[in-house]
Amino acid sequence: MPSKTHDSPLFSFEFFPPKTEVGVENLNFVQQQLAKLNPDFFSVTFGAGGTTRDNTFDAVVNIQKTGFSAAPHLSCVASTQQNIRDILKSYQDNGISKIVALRGDLPSGMMSAGEFRYANELVQFIREETGEQFQIHVAAYPEVHPQAASAAEDFKNFKRKVDAGADAVITQYFYNADAYFYFVDNCEKQGIEIPIVPGIMPITNYSQLFRFSDMCGADIPRWLRKRLEGFGDDTQSIQAFGLDMVSDLCQRLLDNGAPGLHFYTMNKLEPTLAIWESLGLSKE
Ligand SMILES: Cc1cc2nc3c(=O)[nH]c(=O)nc-3n(C[C@H](O)[C@H](O)[C@H](O)COP(=O)(O)OP(=O)(O)OC[C@H]3O[C@@H](n4cnc5c(N)ncnc54)[C@H](O)[C@@H]3O)c2cc1C
Repeated sequence: MPSKTHDSPLFSFEFFPPKTEVGVENLNFVQQQLAKLNPDFFSVTFGAGGTTRDNTFDAVVNIQKTGFSAAPHLSCVASTQQNIRDILKSYQDNGISKIVALRGDLPSGMMSAGEFRYANELVQFIREETGEQFQIHVAAYPEVHPQAASAAEDFKNFKRKVDAGADAVITQYFYNADAYFYFVDNCEKQGIEIPIVPGIMPITNYSQLFRFSDMCGADIPRWLRKRLEGFGDDTQSIQAFGLDMVSDLCQRLLDNGAPGLHFYTMNKLEPTLAIWESLGLSKE
């Protein structure tokens, strides 16, 4: 695996942990193909409340075995300190050095919020328990977290995570680049200097995208919604349009100083690879 210079853009690919044998085989294949692009790391999501704890662990260990860095996501909602301590220990024992630290959302039917209320408490706990052993990434919402009282409050809360010791940031996906630039400007004004890597969601299927975006508070601008709806069931046209649109977004982000890109791959190879190729990104 060729090493990267410190100043080269940060590229990462996100997966969810598969639950079936077929899913595991598919993920192995997708990861092997994306590994050829020499990303900085792969990340693996974690079901809030610990619902994918073992699958997330297995997936990150499998990735580490291929010689690449794997960053497990770790959400603290509904967890105790001891749960989190045990998970951190298992990652330390397996040479994992990066973590994406999140609050998560309480799964429906689960009543207890546990011993952590917000992600800043998790970041603080990881630092207290493990010092500088982990590089900690946290989430940010350029279009504002859906539960936030206001954009200003959300920003203050985001800054708590940075102040608690986060090293880098991955954003929720967005299709409005200005929301990202405005967020980054705000960070600069507040003296936040860690990299804020935009999260990129390829567009392949509009009903799924609309559903997902409603849940996580990502805005689909009206013009984009209308364009996608206009394609009806014509999946090929949706994918071709999505590729152009998202590649242009990525290019604009990189041209204007984004420190890298984090792709929400949804465990699929083609949509992410097509964007990568259309951007002409290098493997160095
Ligand atoms: C890159 C990325 C990866 C993700 N991966 C996963 C995953 O693997 N598993 C998963 O379940 N979910 C994941 N999510 C979703 C995430 O868990 C949800 O968006 C969740 O609602 C918020 O998590 P957070 O870490 O941003 O929370 P927080 O930073 O804790 O913020 C949550 C809300 O609480 C407010 N808040 C924060 N701190 C305080 C405070 N101290 N006092 C008062 N209010 C506060 C914020 O303004 C915000 O409205 C991911 C999101 C992103 C962007």
